[in-house]
Amino acid sequence: DRRVLWFRRDLRLLDHPALLAAAEGGAEVLPLYVLDERLLAPAGPNRVAWVLASVRALADELAEHGATLVVRHGDPAEVLPAVVADTGAREVHISADHGPYGRARDARVREALGEVPLVETGSPYVVSPGRLLTGSGNGYQVFTPYYRAWLAHGWRAPAESDPTQVVWASAPADEIPSAELPPGVRLEPGESAARRHWAEALGRIADYATARDRPDLDATSRISPYLKVGALHPRTLLADLADHPDEAFRRELAFREFYADVLHHRPETARDYARPEPRGLPYVTGAALREHLDAWAAGRTGYPLVDAGMRQLLAEGWMHNRVRMLVASFLVKDLGVEWTHGARHFLRHLIDGDLASNQHGWQWAVGCGTDAAPYFRIFNPTTQARTFDPDGTYIRRWVPELRSLTGKAIHEPWTAPSGPPDGYPPPIVDHAEQRAAALEAYHALRAGR
Ligand code: FAD
Repeated sequence: DRRVLWFRRDLRLLDHPALLAAAEGGAEVLPLYVLDERLLAPAGPNRVAWVLASVRALADELAEHGATLVVRHGDPAEVLPAVVADTGAREVHISADHGPYGRARDARVREALGEVPLVETGSPYVVSPGRLLTGSGNGYQVFTPYYRAWLAHGWRAPAESDPTQVVWASAPADEIPSAELPPGVRLEPGESAARRHWAEALGRIADYATARDRPDLDATSRISPYLKVGALHPRTLLADLADHPDEAFRRELAFREFYADVLHHRPETARDYARPEPRGLPYVTGAALREHLDAWAAGRTGYPLVDAGMRQLLAEGWMHNRVRMLVASFLVKDLGVEWTHGARHFLRHLIDGDLASNQHGWQWAVGCGTDAAPYFRIFNPTTQARTFDPDGTYIRRWVPELRSLTGKAIHEPWTAPSGPPDGYPPPIVDHAEQRAAALEAYHALRAGR
């Protein structure tokens, strides 16, 4: 009896329910990864490199158990039936994917496999999207009630998959394209590295609740790129957190599950506004759109914390959450650019780039998400910098032109006695004016003017 285990967003061997299911009864397991060009098309170099390096790390880990990860290029709806025909496999096992692309792809693969069942066990979440419903039978729109229901529902203990006990099968494979991780990506790929990384983050978790909003302190876990590729499952993290008194970290993990749940119920929100109000605002177009978007993307807006974040994104493929919220608000409210442009840039560069968390993180920051973060709450880029990067440590790390500035000028370089240092731009817009204009446009829209 031979079965295929098709890896997707579950690039690990431990706590892997689909591996357990595939190996049940002593069946031979053929580990497969399909390089699907369509999935990597929106990804930039950092993100592609992170995915490929994570696939390679899985291959290395399988090699330690004498197994070969079979990598094939192409459309999964063609590759899977071919692999099944080549190897005589009788079942294909997967962890469920709840994204719109994944669902459509899996439906096509299921059809292409015909008689050979595509068996789903587990998902990248502790409570699978779609499982929790409100009293009226709908998906949750607001986080806090979702969170309560999520805690009440609970989750399983980590699955006891054991790669040393699996009988691994083999088949001819294509090469994994080599992709060096850019020097800025400071994480080591793979499940073992992810577990070491998590153990280290867990050691610092006592400071998480108070320090998580401070980009200068770098006090968050940076676990998101591992969760994205499934090198770790959140069940593993929650089991380690079970005796921890502080719920701040658990709550953030629930946000990831909430957004996946919202996207599951409302797949159109991947592209469209979850709440319609801001759709009709007078967004910039043409040359102004290009100019604003380019300055923002390059970290050259003249607002230090915004620029620091955008440069961190390009260098590391990651950005601190507080700064993600600020740069998102700034692009939309201050620069008048529709959120979808910014979300696309994020998904191109983030190594944790995830459709659900990203599109809904954007919609929340902009004020059109399902839960009512009001449109009129507009982040002030200078106040945010003073509060969350008080000494300018994070700004100096990412914006070298400003390193010589001290005191108030690090947050407001235009107030330095001789103006912003050479090479650093003056503010691209006046925040106070843009804020007033954004609010006016919003009120006009609501009043139907
Ligand atoms: P920690 O603070 O250590 O949190 C632990 C984990 O909880 C994270 O790894 C993540 O899985 C989850 N989490 C924390 N905050 C959030 C949140 N607000 N929403 C959803 N999950 C959360 N996260 C992504 O994983 N991929 C994205 O593409 C993404 N895009 C975003 C875009 C915007 C505009 C905003 C405001 C947020 C976005 N986030 C995204 C959420 C959040 O910024 C990151 O998950 C977090 O910064 C990752 O760093 P960390 O692992 O150190 O987080």
